[in-house]
Amino acid sequence: MRLFKTIAGLQAELRQYWHEQSIGFVPTMGALHEGHLSLMRRAIAENEIVVVSIFINPLQFAPNEDLENYPRSREQDAQLCEELGVRVLFAPSPETMGIARAQTTIIPPPEMTSGLCSSRREGHFQGVATIVTKLFNLVRPTRAYFGEKDAQQLAIIRRLVADLNIPVEIRPCPTVREASGLACSSRNQYLTPEQEENATVLFRSLEAARGSFQKGERNAQTLMTAAKTELQTVPEIELEYLELVDPQTLIPLNSIETSGLLAIAARVGTTRLIDNIQLRDREPIVAIDGPAGAGKSTVTRLVAEALGFLYLDTGAMYRAIAWLVLEKKIALDDEPAIAECLESTTLTLRRTNSTPPLQVSIDNTDVTQAIRTPQVTANVSAVAKLSAVRQVLLKQQQQWGEKGGIVAEGRDIGTHVFPNAELKIFLTASAQERARRRLQDLAHQGETQIDLEQMEKEIQHRDYIDSTRKIAPLCKAPDAIELVTDGLSIEEVTQAILKLYARHCTTF
Ligand code: AMP
Repeated sequence: MRLFKTIAGLQAELRQYWHEQSIGFVPTMGALHEGHLSLMRRAIAENEIVVVSIFINPLQFAPNEDLENYPRSREQDAQLCEELGVRVLFAPSPETMGIARAQTTIIPPPEMTSGLCSSRREGHFQGVATIVTKLFNLVRPTRAYFGEKDAQQLAIIRRLVADLNIPVEIRPCPTVREASGLACSSRNQYLTPEQEENATVLFRSLEAARGSFQKGERNAQTLMTAAKTELQTVPEIELEYLELVDPQTLIPLNSIETSGLLAIAARVGTTRLIDNIQLRDREPIVAIDGPAGAGKSTVTRLVAEALGFLYLDTGAMYRAIAWLVLEKKIALDDEPAIAECLESTTLTLRRTNSTPPLQVSIDNTDVTQAIRTPQVTANVSAVAKLSAVRQVLLKQQQQWGEKGGIVAEGRDIGTHVFPNAELKIFLTASAQERARRRLQDLAHQGETQIDLEQMEKEIQHRDYIDSTRKIAPLCKAPDAIELVTDGLSIEEVTQAILKLYARHCTTF
């Protein structure tokens, strides 16, 4: 790992990676804990190079706040980053970041900074947005990782990146908690053991609202009363706010239609803590990822059928685009022309009760059969590689996900497309088992010339390429359940997933 304190050093180091390799970026204020480490682990799994920044940003502290006393543990932080496999640690001074000079300031949309933390932390999110924009420009990451623990910050950064067309993918990561339920935070260090015990009521109160939500309550006031009743069991807690807002726009909700963000801030002694949960009124999403040849597509289709859910056949979506590109006679390597064409194209998936169970249409033309021709098969992988195509499909897939009731498979469904899926399965099998299955398939097609060892090597090579590729690398979501399918039939795997579904999802 290399530590840089200057912009010149950082950029000289990163220049060698910018064009060739994917860069994952984790901005922090240091005093690293398990929450930060979870972001870094994910960045390391999904990128070739990981950059972590440690910068206690003076612009996001109001004059009466704890800037001077904010916990600092530089040596330990550096050691943790090094042990994890971080390539570059950037720890600039306020002068290096240009804090002392007159600042050009990024002002997030006022409706996103009128409630929640903004009411007590004036200018806070301008400070965050300004420094995060500077860091993005300095590091130029492929992906940047932010915790859902700071939900308002995350929503504002997503909006900032969208509004200013900043070329970075924002990857939200779930809140990491102590066994007590208390969200990990650098500020937890300020708490005495008794205060730490008291602070656990924050999450309990959010969970009380979730309990009421799961019983069918949708009214904001009633849900918040459930949380407040629990909160009052610990009188030492001074509530700063409890609000129910739209998770994207942060506009307050009177009731939950599809999803709501329930966020709390409270003081425990002099320490200010925040926490939140998302309440989603939708059917569950089952996300199945795993290496090639693990039997994902058949199993996914069977699980969807058994649950009566939509099988979100991402393969069919890529096929539909390949069909369109061929139909319009656009060269497969002309990504700009394909990108332009996709802007005015509507892709529709519809569940049917016949075979195949999914009808695929492009601009109202049914292409369900047309996308299965050998010509489309031969060209689909060239189209699926294009980031313009992946971006369009990602948006579409996430739109379908809003209502839930979906089973989907892929290489990054649980990590990227549906990071909030209720059930994530990482379906895998040893390379040997997958080679054996593949040989069986080929034998059915009359191909008997390839030997097992050669096939196993090819599969290992493909695994390596899949897990190190820049676009949509294969990796297991930290909250995915790994299912090793060696020796199991498709029916047994399907049943195993349905059992997991019954255990994990029936309370939703
Ligand atoms: P901070 O150092 O507090 O600015 O946090 C740096 C990043 O870590 C932000 O994206 C935070 O949202 C994230 N983070 C902090 N605490 C947690 C946690 N308990 N779980 C997940 N992410 C967290």
